[in-house]
Amino acid sequence: MNVPRGDGRLSHDLDPQDQGPKDACGVFGVWAPGEEVAKLTFFGLYALQHRGQESAGIAVSDGSKILVFKDMGLVSQVFDESSLGSLTGHIAVGHARYSTTGASTWENAQPTFRATGHGSIALGHNGNLVNTAELADLAAGLPGSRPQRNRAPVTNDTDLVTALLAGQTGENGEPLTVEQAAPLVLPRVKGAYSFVFMDETTLYAARDPQGIRPLVLGRLERGWVVASETAALDIVGASLVREIEPGELIAVDGDGLRATRFAEARPRTCVFEHVYLARPDTYISGRNVYLSRVEMGRRLAGEAPADADLVIPTPESGTPAAIGYAEASGIPYGSGLVKNAYVGRTFIQPSQTIRQLGIRLKLNPLKEVIRGKRLVVVDDSIVRGNTQRALVRMLREAGAAEVHIRISSPPIKWPCFFGIDFATRAELIANGLSVEEIGTSLGADSLSYISLDAMVEATTIDKPNLCRACFDGSYPMELPDPAVLGKDVLEKPDGGTRPLLATGPGAADALRRL
Ligand code: SF4
Repeated sequence: MNVPRGDGRLSHDLDPQDQGPKDACGVFGVWAPGEEVAKLTFFGLYALQHRGQESAGIAVSDGSKILVFKDMGLVSQVFDESSLGSLTGHIAVGHARYSTTGASTWENAQPTFRATGHGSIALGHNGNLVNTAELADLAAGLPGSRPQRNRAPVTNDTDLVTALLAGQTGENGEPLTVEQAAPLVLPRVKGAYSFVFMDETTLYAARDPQGIRPLVLGRLERGWVVASETAALDIVGASLVREIEPGELIAVDGDGLRATRFAEARPRTCVFEHVYLARPDTYISGRNVYLSRVEMGRRLAGEAPADADLVIPTPESGTPAAIGYAEASGIPYGSGLVKNAYVGRTFIQPSQTIRQLGIRLKLNPLKEVIRGKRLVVVDDSIVRGNTQRALVRMLREAGAAEVHIRISSPPIKWPCFFGIDFATRAELIANGLSVEEIGTSLGADSLSYISLDAMVEATTIDKPNLCRACFDGSYPMELPDPAVLGKDVLEKPDGGTRPLLATGPGAADALRRL
């Protein structure tokens, strides 16, 4: 049962200058008889809040029925003791959303829910699919025996997969169970996906063959947990068992845990998780994210030294790399900027006067630290450059003698289709400008980026096993025509007449026009 509460408004970011990369969802699932699974899921999502701040939801099963509660806003805004207390059962899946396909509305909040021939299914998704139009055509062709249940309007890629899992039939037209349907449906799904889903009795988790987004398996004393990041296991007291492998499907119920493979693993995990997306206390492929970021800073200092008095981070995401830069360069480290951690986490629209304050809503300079200093400012990435331009201006106004910007990832020149909402190619400042020109555009005394190889080496993961497409344009899979990509592909006015995918060499050329 879906329980609508919100009015579909967006969660507004108070800082109009904040054009940084946006994450694309956190997922959490638990199977644990005798535990308060809704509360465990709440705290799991709480630890994953950085991955999506637009809406949150939890689905719970008591073995006979699934209840879904979701709304717009932060996890702590959506749930309270009362709502969590009403979600009783022993299986739960949860989701914190940042929208990539499908607008930020209540209808598109997750977990998605569909009736099946055997009961129902609820599903949460981290990632973004690239064959949405193809999946929409597949869903439209589902057998007509249960049209009303499985042909409700679909406005996001996740709900398409839910509809396909719900609507599969066997050779004689009999409805398949979710566990029977998953190995048939998942190989048809292309793009980035870490799915957690459930029927009335079983918790499932599946990861795309490239393993682009993270997904880990954890153990509770009385059950099992799956989550986007290891940090979400820590908060509920679960121990890390292992990563869910690319191309693997996990099922957990009263008979135990079953692991099967629906596709061969071709690992291309997202390098940007190491740079920015994941929490620093998370482990990916056995590597602690904080250590990778510190190492990126060290290598950045070796590649791009600066004659300066103080290294400061752009908090919080630039902090580990700034520590590494300071260590390797011998330049003292300091805090020159104070971040208001709660900006952007409100439904209140900023007034025009407040909008004009721009970056000051989010960051405020410590004048006593900055005045008269030659600064190295370390940040994780530059997307459009608006934030850094405002930052340089603010630091100069606060009395900085010089501002040298150092970035712990290479220039972002290509869009991401796998769950990170950078910008279109035309909006990326590194698309068409040299590093020197970007530095001039930002008003900095100097600008340098880490090299691709140094960033990759800092992760300790083999380069061929990493997606780094936003930096070098080498996408981990063939992409369809841009006409059938995009956030609103299912919500365009001509929604029912989309073309089939146009994959092939022409797709890359079409992509360059983005
Ligand atoms: S394009 Fe960039 S952000 Fe997207 S999955 Fe690949 S490395 Fe990650």
